[in-house]
Amino acid sequence: MLVSSPLRILHLEDDPKDADLLQATLEADGFACNITRVENRINFCASLEKSDFDLILADYTLPSFDGISALKIVMEMRPELPFIFVSGTLDEEVAIDALKIGATDYVFKTRLSRITPALQRALRECQNRAERKRAQDALQRSEGYLAEAQKISQTGSFGWSVSTGALFWSEETFRIFQYDRMTTPMPELVLQRTHPEDVAFVLRTIERATRELQDFDISHRLLMPDGSVKHVHVLAHAVRDISGEIEFIGTVRDVTERKRAEDRLRKAQSELAHANRVTTMGELAASVAHEVNQPIAAAVTNANTCLRWLMRDQPDLEEARAAAMRIVKDATRAGEIINRIRLFFSKSAQQWELTDVDEIIRGMIALLRDEAIQHKISFRAELATGIPKIMGDRVQLQQVMLNLIMNGIDAMKDVDRPRELIIKTQRTKNDQLLVSVSDTGVGLPEQNADQIFNAFFTTKAQGIGMGLSISRSIVEMHGGRLWAEKNAAGGAIFLFTLPAACDTVI
Ligand code: ADP
Repeated sequence: MLVSSPLRILHLEDDPKDADLLQATLEADGFACNITRVENRINFCASLEKSDFDLILADYTLPSFDGISALKIVMEMRPELPFIFVSGTLDEEVAIDALKIGATDYVFKTRLSRITPALQRALRECQNRAERKRAQDALQRSEGYLAEAQKISQTGSFGWSVSTGALFWSEETFRIFQYDRMTTPMPELVLQRTHPEDVAFVLRTIERATRELQDFDISHRLLMPDGSVKHVHVLAHAVRDISGEIEFIGTVRDVTERKRAEDRLRKAQSELAHANRVTTMGELAASVAHEVNQPIAAAVTNANTCLRWLMRDQPDLEEARAAAMRIVKDATRAGEIINRIRLFFSKSAQQWELTDVDEIIRGMIALLRDEAIQHKISFRAELATGIPKIMGDRVQLQQVMLNLIMNGIDAMKDVDRPRELIIKTQRTKNDQLLVSVSDTGVGLPEQNADQIFNAFFTTKAQGIGMGLSISRSIVEMHGGRLWAEKNAAGGAIFLFTLPAACDTVI
């Protein structure tokens, strides 16, 4: 309550002289007053209703009204207003009764000098009361908001004094554990609700946290009386209270819905991954079947032709031999496709060891030099010194190198410009091994160059189109990357990285 200046006083007094005297006393003591004097019940009530006052002063006996009745009316209508009796006569018992009903003080007209301290005290008390009320209202409001926020976020709070065992639960905590609000919270009640399979774990955690005065953060299940299961996440902060005893202050959050949503998502993801796998396998099976079917169909036709030539009255061995050769070629091709695919999927056949890529490259150069010379190709290697060894499958990496070099040679067979195949190794800034194979051949397809890495993509009459796709998977299985770029000198460059094996960087 804010006290105004001048002080607004409602004065119940039938004697104008007494009223003047009181006003003079207050003004002499430095109070600026705005006094409304009334003499009877009707005016008293009307004034109370109509205007705002800081204080009520009242005579005890009046011709048509009395101070006690006025006090009761004030207690009813404006209980926060200070009420002081200013009376000529007031015996002690009546005064005590008046105070009991709610009067703030009483002053005898014969000792009017007491009015100022009485009034000051009354105003002070009234102000303190108003402030306390304001603080209480604010606290209540804030507690209301907190309870609402806890309800919305399904997060309850608790405080637990380990030494006394006293446990405090917020309303939401009661709701999460499904206990009646009137129940006295106890640690046993938490264990009663904890899922039997999680009790030992919860006990262990709390026991350790108490022993080591440590915060804890656990998720566990609750088994509710109706048999349903809830998931909670409990976060507790260990503190010492003012007397040095351990106390845990924390939150318990109902994460059942989130957990269910996560489970649903995980299930959906795994179903999707499975569906993707099935689709990919289906597509692959279809293309493999198609690729293998062609040579087999050709072999069957040739086998029939061969048989026809042999079963003639006069067998034509030359034709039969030619057909048999074609059978061998087609059957070999079908076998080759199947072998490559088997190699691609046979992870168990891998043999990982510390491998020197330089050595592989040198071996390849020795193996393919004659082939290169035959096609008038200058074939050289520019190998950096001190490149790291890698952890990998030597045979698979040889297969990658062989494939890239053979592709380079193939790409240059029919070009007119100088034919040059260069293999380079480098160490990258982040200690990876970078290998490049460049040629001056026909170059990459203009459109969608990356399709060369697709399984069965080939532009060669006798090609299978598995080389690059297998090479890419091998490099990726080794933790690296394989890609192709345009060679500025005309032709293509194939590059791949491989991570260095630990402790081999020189
Ligand atoms: P294949 O050699 O059986 O065709 P690959 O997967 O090794 O299978 O190669 C796929 C295709 O990529 C080739 O048919 C060719 O069109 C293209 N290609 C590969 N290497 C090169 C290269 N060095 N220069 C140009 N094109 C290439």
